[in-house]
Amino acid sequence: MSSKSAEVIVIGAGTMGAAAAWALARRGVDVIAIEQFGYYNKMASHGGHTRIFRHCYFEGEKYVPWTLEADRLFSELQDRTGLELQIRVGCLDIGTPENGHAKLARATAIEHNLPYEMLTGKDVNERFPGWNVPEDFEACLDPDGGVLRVENVFTAFRREIDAAGGRIVENQKVLGWEATDDGVTVTTADGVYTGKQLIITAGAWAGKVLSDLHLPLQVTRKPVMWFEVDDMNTFAPRNFPPFIIDCDIQHFYGLPAVAPDSLKMGIHSDMNVVDPDNFQREVQPEDMVPEFVEFIGSMLKGAHARTSMTSMCMYTMTPDEDFIIDRHPQHANVAIAAGFSGHSFKFATVIGEHLADLATDPSVAGKPAFAVGRFS
Ligand SMILES: Cc1cc2nc3c(=O)[nH]c(=O)nc-3n(C[C@H](O)[C@H](O)[C@H](O)COP(=O)(O)OP(=O)(O)OC[C@H]3O[C@@H](n4cnc5c(N)ncnc54)[C@H](O)[C@@H]3O)c2cc1C
Repeated sequence: MSSKSAEVIVIGAGTMGAAAAWALARRGVDVIAIEQFGYYNKMASHGGHTRIFRHCYFEGEKYVPWTLEADRLFSELQDRTGLELQIRVGCLDIGTPENGHAKLARATAIEHNLPYEMLTGKDVNERFPGWNVPEDFEACLDPDGGVLRVENVFTAFRREIDAAGGRIVENQKVLGWEATDDGVTVTTADGVYTGKQLIITAGAWAGKVLSDLHLPLQVTRKPVMWFEVDDMNTFAPRNFPPFIIDCDIQHFYGLPAVAPDSLKMGIHSDMNVVDPDNFQREVQPEDMVPEFVEFIGSMLKGAHARTSMTSMCMYTMTPDEDFIIDRHPQHANVAIAAGFSGHSFKFATVIGEHLADLATDPSVAGKPAFAVGRFS
């Protein structure tokens, strides 16, 4: 194969593109993944150092088999590379009795026979001293959840891609692509890449790279903040597992202080729609919205509404907040993965394998829940 041809071309070597290249390369498939920025960059949707993984899944029980399989694949990758990818300290879904957030997580645990513990707000405060939630709140503790270390995941993927002869092309924006029954072409400023199959994993730019499909995607601006705390140990992973809380102020998520960083939090539910090529990428003083100040002041102990570090990220939302992973409706040799709606990092390994299946085995079908056709 020439330097610009491969069996499979991947557009976008972010989370899912790197994972697809990793899965393909390990199968011995010749793959080139083309990335407009650097590999593991701060411009896309995988910045901010850490991600939550969990098995009890309030978003829907259909995700649970994938949470388990993705976890297994991450564990194996961790063992093979010796890199710390997972910090398994549990994960808390916290809600009011009325909004039922914790019960939704519990329902998926019951359905799939997963371990879980239901706690009251009082239990949470006693067990995890950084919390000060109302005593009648309820929480579902998923003991097998925890924190994924993003940079190490990218390093692990890259190590195995390189070892298997896969190629990552950095700092080349894809300007266009075409597919016919004979193969695919992908154009960058550096020339034309050719392949038999194409995978498009363009994250927040999916709407632009797949403009032919008019996908109902909305890119939202997501400031990420690390907060000053009195005692790092109170917010260390063992003492303060990652959480998602629906507390009638907002829907927040947070991750413990994974050294050298402090306590990290963001708002999951706000919808500030932007253009990924043109928006305010610096976190502004007004991003510390009153809801954040209220949440930190009333629900946490020993944390302050002052940031020690910030970064910017983007969600790419679908109307139903479920993913799009499918073959392109007009091109059987093009697989697409988009619209990850702020909750997909934990699935990267299994989605990489699924994309590799779609690209190499015509008999494999996409999952109906993630079909692109559900919006038409
Ligand atoms: C603040 C925040 C917190 C999150 N927390 C969690 C969490 O706790 N748990 C969890 O599971 N998930 C979480 N997520 C979601 C998860 O990180 C994302 O859903 C996931 O990273 C998206 O992967 P992706 O491959 O679609 O996008 P990206 O990782 O952004 O990759 C897309 C890549 O395509 C490249 N690209 C685009 N267009 C082109 C082009 N024309 N040419 C070449 N390259 C191109 C981009 O530069 C980018 O690198 C969070 C997301 C954010 C923003």
